Amino acid sequence: MNKLDAQRQKEIQQAEELLFAGPQALGFAKGLFQGHFVADWVMPYPRIPAAQQVELDGSLTELRQFLDEHLDPAEIDRNADIPRSVIDGLGRVGVLGMTAPKEYGGRGFSQMANCKILEEIGRRCASTSVFVNAHHSIGIRALLLFGTHEQKQRWLPKLSTGEQLGAFALTEKEAGSDAANVQMQARPSEDGSNFILNGEKRYITNAAIADVLTVMARTPVPGSEKTSITAFLVTPDMPGFEMIEARMPKMGIRGTATGRFALRDVKVPKENILGPPGKGLKVALTVLDFGRTTFGACCTGAAKTCLRLAIEHANTRKQFNKTLGNFHLVQKKIARIAADAHAMEAMTTITASLIDRGLEDYMLETAMLKVFTTERLWECINDVFQIYGGSAYFVDRPLERMMRDARINQIGEGANEVLTSFIALVGMRGPGMEFKEIYDTMMKPTRERGFAKAWTAGKHRLGATVRVPEIPVHSGELRWFANQLGRLIWRFNVAVNRTLITYREPILDMQLVQERIANAVMDLFAATCVLSRWDGELQFAQRNGNSSTPDQFAANLFLRQSFRRIRRFLAGLTDNDDKSVLATANSILGKPGN
Ligand SMILES: Cc1cc2nc3c(=O)[nH]c(=O)nc-3n(C[C@H](O)[C@H](O)[C@H](O)COP(=O)(O)OP(=O)(O)OC[C@H]3O[C@@H](n4cnc5c(N)ncnc54)[C@H](O)[C@@H]3O)c2cc1C
Repeated sequence: MNKLDAQRQKEIQQAEELLFAGPQALGFAKGLFQGHFVADWVMPYPRIPAAQQVELDGSLTELRQFLDEHLDPAEIDRNADIPRSVIDGLGRVGVLGMTAPKEYGGRGFSQMANCKILEEIGRRCASTSVFVNAHHSIGIRALLLFGTHEQKQRWLPKLSTGEQLGAFALTEKEAGSDAANVQMQARPSEDGSNFILNGEKRYITNAAIADVLTVMARTPVPGSEKTSITAFLVTPDMPGFEMIEARMPKMGIRGTATGRFALRDVKVPKENILGPPGKGLKVALTVLDFGRTTFGACCTGAAKTCLRLAIEHANTRKQFNKTLGNFHLVQKKIARIAADAHAMEAMTTITASLIDRGLEDYMLETAMLKVFTTERLWECINDVFQIYGGSAYFVDRPLERMMRDARINQIGEGANEVLTSFIALVGMRGPGMEFKEIYDTMMKPTRERGFAKAWTAGKHRLGATVRVPEIPVHSGELRWFANQLGRLIWRFNVAVNRTLITYREPILDMQLVQERIANAVMDLFAATCVLSRWDGELQFAQRNGNSSTPDQFAANLFLRQSFRRIRRFLAGLTDNDDKSVLATANSILGKPGN
């Protein structure tokens, strides 16, 4: 085995260990890759239970009032600081412990309800929403998910109210996108009661204002030369904790304190380990699933602000004796923002509901939500920027700030390229394994048990290929859309099979192909969420004697545009310029051709 193959085998082994914990219920996204429409996860459109809705409405009213009176996003950006009074106020309203159980001082909200809170903050100020995410979605998440009762009892009450703040520290110089490459070391003390941590972390939101940090460090694997990652709770008062740079000056979300710190022989009690020792990477990736869900909510809020600003300007600014809203090229942008904002909300709601309903593996859905909403928000801001013309460029308007703030979304919590590749590869793993089963058995036809397994796998693959899945909408008016969606899922499945048969293992490196597969499945997921939402709203409207829903135009447009995109992505699998793209890049980079 050459060095490259050995590295590949190691990566595959790591991923297998990390992602596939054993048999689990088939999730929605994985179902799509197998040609199935696992309706139960996405239909009917989820609703927050009535009792919790009342509580949520109360919290939203309180939050809105507080933000109206005390949150000034322009000032936060100018001063590059979120005032402590704002942080304290968010704590009082409950935002900093929304999903923490009530017994530990939190509000006990579901993810769906929490997303509504984050949408409201994201609508107004990205610095503040990123601060809340860093503290609540990821900073204290490992403690919430993996902490023991004693750990929760000790740490959570103050973290839930904002009396103390949290941060999540994974990134290092050598461990950015390659999160598994954490270099910070944690060696056990001689008596085993502590771990001694050494290393540096960078780009950590809230690092300088946090009282408790979840830190990922490398620990020895007992009885072997190997090391693996473990999650620790670290406090800045521990001797050896050194803040190298408290607030790295930056382009956007300037109100957040993004810092760099070092741990130099910091003694951390073993009681501060979160989750199983050595399973820190799994802990970190699970934490990030939650971060990506609230990312979707914040982007939804910001997209709604784009829509509001676009409408205001298009209805008031006159040129050529007409308000801008009369020009089709302006209308096109506004329609697209409305359609995308509608879809982002539907996708966020359904993804959050998967977590609330106990789907075990939602990595694909949260990754899709993150990539889709961050890319769409960037487009929305670009569109509304254009509608405002020259005035968007000046700092008395919020648009230049919104643009600066939004740019981090495509990079943070997993760069979109990395997640795009992840979506395609993890999704294709299921059908890929079935093909491998068939192929391996064909190579060794005498193995009877293997042949039976291969026969089952073959039947699965074939079954999905001949059947167009049924999309169970209740509203007759939506039948056409449901049929189109079913056919596109079928076509997607055929395309996935063909891709796997054509390229086999080299697909692992073919990111241009992966991107089309990922883009297609993201739009299939988005279209499903929009259709489910429309169906739910239509049923509700009809029960109340109405025949239409408020967002029906946006839903209709989104579905049409989404279906068109899916067809284009799938067509691109066979009609593309990939060879030329790679030849050009390789010639410029001075690399031998692929
Ligand atoms: C403002 C801000 C706040 C942050 N807050 C936190 C925090 O609270 N906690 C924390 O742990 N981290 C935090 N981060 C770090 C953030 O998560 C990383 O910046 C991100 O994961 C990317 O890592 P990197 O910057 O090292 O980029 P790199 O890993 O160097 O990647 C650079 C680019 O290369 C491309 N790329 C990389 N790998 C691949 C691949 N496999 N395939 C294709 N393209 C690829 C992507 O386009 C990527 O954007 C923050 C960063 C910023 C800027």
